[in-house]
Amino acid sequence: MGSFEEILVKKHLKRTKARVMILKVLEKSLPLTAGEVYEAVRGKDMRLSLSTVYINCEALAENGLLLRSTMLADGLIRYEYAHGTPSHHAVCLSCHRIFPVDVGLQSDYAEVLDEEYGFEAAEPRVEIYGYCRDCRATGKDRAFKEKLRSANA
Ligand SMILES: [Zn+2]
Repeated sequence: MGSFEEILVKKHLKRTKARVMILKVLEKSLPLTAGEVYEAVRGKDMRLSLSTVYINCEALAENGLLLRSTMLADGLIRYEYAHGTPSHHAVCLSCHRIFPVDVGLQSDYAEVLDEEYGFEAAEPRVEIYGYCRDCRATGKDRAFKEKLRSANA
C-alpha cells in the first residue's frame, strides 16, 4: 500500500483511485484549479470526469489534505497539497500561477496581531502579488501593466 493510501485510511477517508491520483499530481505541482488537475489526471484514467475531480478535491480540502487558495481575480479555487509547513504564496498577476515561497514572518507576528488588533492567528499565510520570472522574461508583465494602465485611464 502506497503512502497516499495510508494517509487516506488514517483520515478515515474512502481510498479511491481518483483521490490517490489527485494527491500525486498536487504533491509535485504548483496549486492548480480542479480543471487543471482534471487535465493532469485525464491521461491516466479516461473515465474520470471533471465533476468527480472537483468533488474529490473538495473532500480532500475539507479533511486538510489539500489547501484551498482563492486569492486571484478570476475567482477560481486552486488546490495546494498540504505539506504541513506554513506555505506563503507569491501570486503572479499576469499568468495567475501561485508559487509557494519560503519567506519569513516576524517571529512575534501572533503576539502583535493579538495585542494590536485583538486577532487570534490560526494558519499563517502571506500572499505577495506580483510578476513571476517567466512573465518578466517574456515581457508579459509589461503587457499586463500596460493593460491595467489603459483600463484606469
Ligand atoms: Zn506569471
